[in-house]
Amino acid sequence: MKITFWGVRGSVGSGITKSDVEKKIRRTLELASPADILSPESIDRFMATLPFSLTGTYGGNTTCVEIRTDEDKLVIVDAGTGLRRLGMLLMQEARWRGQGEMTFFFTHSHWDHIQGLMFFPPILIPGNKVKIVSCFKDIEERLKYQQVRTHFPITFDEMAAEKTFDHFEEGQWYETDGLKVTSKMVKHPGGCYSYKFVQPDGKAFIFCSDAEFNMESMYNIEPYIEYFQEADILVFDTQYTFEESLQKIDWGHSSASIATDIAIKSNVKKLILFHHDPSYDDDKMDAVTMQALKYKDMMAPNHPLEIQTAFEGLTLTL
Ligand SMILES: [Zn+2]
Ligand SMILES: [Zn+2]
Repeated sequence: MKITFWGVRGSVGSGITKSDVEKKIRRTLELASPADILSPESIDRFMATLPFSLTGTYGGNTTCVEIRTDEDKLVIVDAGTGLRRLGMLLMQEARWRGQGEMTFFFTHSHWDHIQGLMFFPPILIPGNKVKIVSCFKDIEERLKYQQVRTHFPITFDEMAAEKTFDHFEEGQWYETDGLKVTSKMVKHPGGCYSYKFVQPDGKAFIFCSDAEFNMESMYNIEPYIEYFQEADILVFDTQYTFEESLQKIDWGHSSASIATDIAIKSNVKKLILFHHDPSYDDDKMDAVTMQALKYKDMMAPNHPLEIQTAFEGLTLTL
């Protein structure tokens, strides 16, 4: 499968500002020497030395991750504002203009995970088939509630694609689009489910956002270690720094250090830091990434765990 990140922010969208862009340009110019800008090749070499925060941005859209299976089936996890851009891209292909089929998994129904749905053009097109799956039995009512007339001009039922709903219980195995899927409830206000997607060759992708793990949860971590065991890719909620997580108990999110501890204990191959705080700019996200890498090297220098921070447009292959 290919996994593409369309929205990586938590809580609320947070676009980049003019002063953010100016800061990037100014710092880049300060770092450049005359030799760095002599030719397109020397510029390429110079750009390759810059931190991610100067050449790009982690992105401001909220949670949306695309899974494209090896059989080209489309599975989407959550429908935050990042979904809009995916929808626009899909509409360039003829099949999504009336013959497309896709499956959504919803972890929970906080705004930052559902708000992009009505801005997703394929769901407005008659003929497209949209299957909506969640461990929450009432996901249909929750999504309809988002689009009552006082909040949005088009109701959920007026979106013209054929929409069907499916549900499975936590811990059961559910099969769709050539994948086996199971789930586990995580601590979060109102509840939230993590989903594990296993492809036919046994490789596993786990999505675990909006999940609070703290020092206290480490005393009863075994069931989760079993669930995360040997995942090839684990996307994990790391909204806060460790210091903030100590102050924001019960806010429903974790830190990169707890995520790293859990990933090491579970022998995860690749950990993806996700659900970035809307107040963190690109500089801060670079710092969070560096801190996580240092922490991993300190705690388990010989463990092969890889750590990467999610950004909009990141694609991983499993
Ligand atoms: Zn969230
Ligand atoms: Zn949430």
